[in-house]
Amino acid sequence: MPDDQAPRNRPQALATRLSHAGRAGTRVRGFVNPPLLRGSTMLYPSCEERQAAGATRLDQAPNYGVMGNATHHALEDVIAEIEGGTRCQIVSSGLAAVTTPLLAYLKSGDHCLVPDSVYGPTRAFCDGLLTRLGIETTYYRADIDAAGIAAMMRPNTAVLYLESPGSHTFEVQDVPGLAGAAHARGAKVLMDNTWGIHFFQPFRHGVDVSIQALTKYVVGHSDVLLGSVTTAADEDWKRVRLTALALGQYASPDDCWLALRGVRTMSVRLQHQMRSGLAVAEWFAGRPEVAGVLHPALPGAPGHDLWRRDFTGACSLFGVVFQPEFSNAAACAMVDSLELFGIGASWGGFESLVLPTTGHVVRTAGAWDYDGPLVRFHIGLEDIGDLIADLDRGLAVLRAHSGLRVQPG
Ligand SMILES: *Cc1c(COP(=O)(O)O)cnc(C)c1O
Repeated sequence: MPDDQAPRNRPQALATRLSHAGRAGTRVRGFVNPPLLRGSTMLYPSCEERQAAGATRLDQAPNYGVMGNATHHALEDVIAEIEGGTRCQIVSSGLAAVTTPLLAYLKSGDHCLVPDSVYGPTRAFCDGLLTRLGIETTYYRADIDAAGIAAMMRPNTAVLYLESPGSHTFEVQDVPGLAGAAHARGAKVLMDNTWGIHFFQPFRHGVDVSIQALTKYVVGHSDVLLGSVTTAADEDWKRVRLTALALGQYASPDDCWLALRGVRTMSVRLQHQMRSGLAVAEWFAGRPEVAGVLHPALPGAPGHDLWRRDFTGACSLFGVVFQPEFSNAAACAMVDSLELFGIGASWGGFESLVLPTTGHVVRTAGAWDYDGPLVRFHIGLEDIGDLIADLDRGLAVLRAHSGLRVQPG
């Protein structure tokens, strides 16, 4: 923030803060954007001054490149601002932002609670590396309540992990309720807040450590991978920071600079994408081919009440479950036929994407509620009429491939 010392008459809106956060350099004569710094070795005029710098390992005064430099720290300041935290650690990818705090708070013999709806690579990390380290994971249904999670906590449960909404199936969790139950038994609450971005303020809802894949909307252009781990309490920041340093976590300053560029327009992109995403979700909800639309901001959709209670907006990623009469092959034929939707993982860029996720729904704590094929949509910045026209043609292909005569309503 350039104006830390200036009196604040009213809290500034996000759109305002995104134009000003992380730009301390502009207070001294300089360019609008922070300059890009690259480097490994940092030189000192004397042994004494180098020694003094080494004592401040935790602070934003690095003595070696791997500790990050002013380019990293400018982005860290913006992300902490977005999430309502105090400090942030940038890491190399969203997945590294998941694994770094898990390793910071879990040790051999510990137990960890993870939602069944969790991002696939997070599940793979828990089942693989954490198991190998002697850390046990239990998966719980994402719709569990505080009493349910309390009953699952053991004396050695060190972490309650949350991801709300789930990034493939969009279950919204009762974050404050679950966090309260975890804190009552001494566990830390870690949350993947990639979908919520700034629409969900994790630290106001009891979260200790917030994880984001900046790869998504913050970068916004599908050309950079980055992750962030944000904290509110100083002790949490120290723990995350020391673990990131111990693991050699480092992000390219070029990538951080691109993310700083992306974040300046994020508020505008998100407003547009939120509107378009909801319009497409509503359109799908009115179609006879559709069994359910998994968009928490859509009235009547699963998780809508919790979303309305805890969120101030929505991104443009959601799921559509088609009627069970349609085969996976028919859903894939529809997906293949779309002209404006790229087929691929990730999301949050300027372009629309589609991903059949049928095979990705892994459930070990309860059954998945739907029988029909599930397709995930990310709505980009294209014209909404063009997108719906493309999807309308896609549904014709779905019907043709199913051999069924479902009439559009
Ligand atoms: C994409 C994603 C990640 C991982 O981000 P990468 O930068 O691709 O490693 C983590 N969590 C969620 C919910 C995601 O969607």
